[in-house]
Amino acid sequence: MKTKKHNSKNLSISSRIAIATSSAIVFTIIVTVIASSIFSYIAPSFYNFSSVTTNNYSLLNQIQWNQTMITITDQFASNEPDDVKQRSLCRITEHFKDFGTQIYITENGEEFYSNTDEKTITTLAKSISKSDLETKLYSYCDNGLVIVDKYNVNGKEYKIIIANKDYTVTPNAGTNRENITSLLFSKVGFIIILEGLLFIFSIVLMSIITSNIITKPIKELTKGANEIAKGNLDYKIDYDSTNEIGVTANAMNDMTQKLKESIDERNQIDQSRKEMIAGLAHDLRTPLTSVKGYVEGIRDGIANTPEKQEQYIKTIYSSTLDMEKLLNELLDISRLELGKIQLNVEPTNILSFIDEFVEEKMVKIQKYDLDYTYNKPTDIETIMVMLDTDRFSRVLSNIASNSIKYAKPNEKLLIDLTIQNYEKSVIITITDNGIGIDGDNISHIFDTFYRADHARTKTREGSGIGLAVCKEIVSLHGGSIWASSTLNKGTTIHISLEKIKEVNNE
Ligand code: ADP
Repeated sequence: MKTKKHNSKNLSISSRIAIATSSAIVFTIIVTVIASSIFSYIAPSFYNFSSVTTNNYSLLNQIQWNQTMITITDQFASNEPDDVKQRSLCRITEHFKDFGTQIYITENGEEFYSNTDEKTITTLAKSISKSDLETKLYSYCDNGLVIVDKYNVNGKEYKIIIANKDYTVTPNAGTNRENITSLLFSKVGFIIILEGLLFIFSIVLMSIITSNIITKPIKELTKGANEIAKGNLDYKIDYDSTNEIGVTANAMNDMTQKLKESIDERNQIDQSRKEMIAGLAHDLRTPLTSVKGYVEGIRDGIANTPEKQEQYIKTIYSSTLDMEKLLNELLDISRLELGKIQLNVEPTNILSFIDEFVEEKMVKIQKYDLDYTYNKPTDIETIMVMLDTDRFSRVLSNIASNSIKYAKPNEKLLIDLTIQNYEKSVIITITDNGIGIDGDNISHIFDTFYRADHARTKTREGSGIGLAVCKEIVSLHGGSIWASSTLNKGTTIHISLEKIKEVNNE
């Protein structure tokens, strides 16, 4: 049952229109046929077709005469004895006299039934119709009415003569308008109007049903669009179908979902930004207060020995370095984000560049008690890429210092630096065995001000800027940067750069 409902919901709009239109036609025809059948069933008694009720010529009167003749001849064909037939004929024609209508029936030339005598009726009929009454005749004229008919049934010949001198034919006078008015107000007019009304009613009814079938899902869509416009992004359009509207509803639901996600994300970034600005302000104040305190100490003569003064100056210098680092980071990211930094690229052998980096930086950071490994292709001497060496070593330094920052407290830090050579690109990976990043955070770590551990508030422990800077610099090189990580196992940062040339070892 449920499947059936589901299938009908999946009907395409064009099928719905086709079904609705054909049902409108079929329904209208059925209503009209039923109405006509009911009418034809009740019409004979309504119009009294079976007996003649008027002495005036009209369509109805003709139908009545035809029906009366059929009823009379039906008697001839019946197997009843003659006296029964005659009694029936008497019943059928008993009201003839009320209208002055005479009837004379013969069977094989012998009188069979009449309400007059032969001479009277033949004289009257001949005077009205000017006919010898030997051939069939249905004459309705202003002189009167004459019907002569003959039937051969069961080997017998019946002849019927009917005559009435009081019969009148109303002249076809009057305007068309009067005719139409009289037709409208006649019984026939009433039936025609009734049929017409029924026809219109069934069409209107079917149009309402049709439009409901088509407009209901559209109303659902409109409601959904209005809810989205009002900002209700939790609203789901409840229309599950594979037809055109179902596809649109799904697309709108997806769009709302994506919109909601991106708004949530933006809110989260805004929140991080606010937190970071608060953190930066706080972290700038700390070295600033320290500088102020030590400068006052020197001014007020508290640092009264040359050793003390030197120590004060060292502390002041280190505090200003902290402030400078922080401000430089901020300046860098805002310049990068505003597109105000131009790279100073030149063709560089990435292998020797990384060799130098390892020698200079990795050896230096060994004071942090770490082990490092370095792997590079041995069969190639030169892999040329376009590089801004200063900025690119900043990228590698940021990544390496993150490995140090996010090392496990109780485990020796291992950093691996590997260069992989591909047909068109070179990929540099830096892997550590640190605390790792969980799945929810990994896609955001390159966003500005994003920190996976929101609890850290000291900017010295991380400002959320380092990887954003890396991403901007790598993008400016036309490369890409991405991360893979397992929580509590470690993190790998991958950087891919396009090659311009390579030279193989002989
Ligand atoms: P931060 O200054 O906070 O380190 P980054 O932009 O360098 O900012 O890094 C963003 C966030 O990504 C960090 O706050 C940290 O949570 C996470 N992260 C970056 N590198 C690593 C890593 N090697 N191991 C674990 N987490 C890392």
